Amino acid sequence: EAEPFLESRATQAAVAMEGKGEMDKAPQQARSGFLGLVGETPLVELRCLSQSTGRKILGKAEFLSPGGCQKDRVARQILEEAVAGGALNPGATVVEGTSGSTGISLSLAAAALGFKVHVVMPDDQAKEKAEQLRRFGATVQMVRPVSISSPEHYVNVARRHAQALNAEKGPGAALFADQFENPANFRAHYEGTGPELWRQCEAHGENPRLDAFVMSAGTGGTLAGVGRYLKERSPNTKVVLADVPGSALYFKVAKGVLYAPEQEERSIRRHRQDTIAEGIGNDRLTANLALGLEEHSGFCAVDGAVQVSDQEALQMSQHLLAHEGLFLGSSAAVNCVAAVKVARELPRGSIVATVLCDSGNRHLTKFHNPAAWAEYGLSPPRPHEALDLSFV
Ligand code: PMP
Repeated sequence: EAEPFLESRATQAAVAMEGKGEMDKAPQQARSGFLGLVGETPLVELRCLSQSTGRKILGKAEFLSPGGCQKDRVARQILEEAVAGGALNPGATVVEGTSGSTGISLSLAAAALGFKVHVVMPDDQAKEKAEQLRRFGATVQMVRPVSISSPEHYVNVARRHAQALNAEKGPGAALFADQFENPANFRAHYEGTGPELWRQCEAHGENPRLDAFVMSAGTGGTLAGVGRYLKERSPNTKVVLADVPGSALYFKVAKGVLYAPEQEERSIRRHRQDTIAEGIGNDRLTANLALGLEEHSGFCAVDGAVQVSDQEALQMSQHLLAHEGLFLGSSAAVNCVAAVKVARELPRGSIVATVLCDSGNRHLTKFHNPAAWAEYGLSPPRPHEALDLSFV
């Protein structure tokens, strides 16, 4: 039986110090600016989840990326491909519809490349994301959250804005980044995050193994890109979608039906009202998620789906803070709850990886805000003494 987690903290501190010694010995070359810092994020074992489940639970620490999220990879890939394809004039404007994270990553990547950024976002996201965007020099346009079928949806407004700039100033004046439909998003994860995660699993032992990969989906780029790479390398690895209340994606993956067309409006409404989580869940099948689904791409990268409640996610965020000193955002918390659910279905000793997308610092006014919990009908998380995972 494993040593109880709390009692073994002193030992773990000693082990961590030894590990640090190893890291210091590895030669580290200077990286080049923002773009050079993107990628090669650490993999961290979530020991408090491993100890309680008897499975090894690992998190890809994307919150340590320079722009604070795995979206840095997507922003870099979209801009590098556009520049290579001659789609952007010097000083051009990159336009994007985003819940915030992609806009932040694009603003930083664009600064490094000499482009401007205009972001269109729904006005129900945590306020600090818009604040950051403005500090990073982006212009921010807020719109009401409406159905994608409405011309006023943030993605449609962004697309029209880019078209208008190109019509006015000539081709190459603006780029619609289009994270939902642009397969550069998928490629960033298929060529970057996926191979990195697999190499990090190889480093764990002689027989590289990953039994499951678990991830929520907004655009679906991470799930489909990483999932497809892993499935090609390691067909026995289970790839599982983590989904939030009100999202249609769970039904698409688990039951093959996105939603009945007459339910579209209801699906949108539910998604907006029913989850406090940001950047994940969707009411439509994007091109990037479709790249991982058999009926659309001929390749089955996603094996199943699990649903996670906001209360579970909130309690998980408290758990990871209390036991690991990790303060994470809503999607990371959702992913960790789902990783535990998936791990419990696998034999003891299995290895499950997920993504720690962003830090809790980006969620102080919503996911980590007691006033918002009340608004979403959530109870305050219980303080944690023990390694009790009975809330999942
Ligand atoms: N977490 C956060 C914080 C995000 O902003 C997003 C995307 N909007 C996701 C997770 C989901 O990633 P993907 O778009 O690759 O599905």
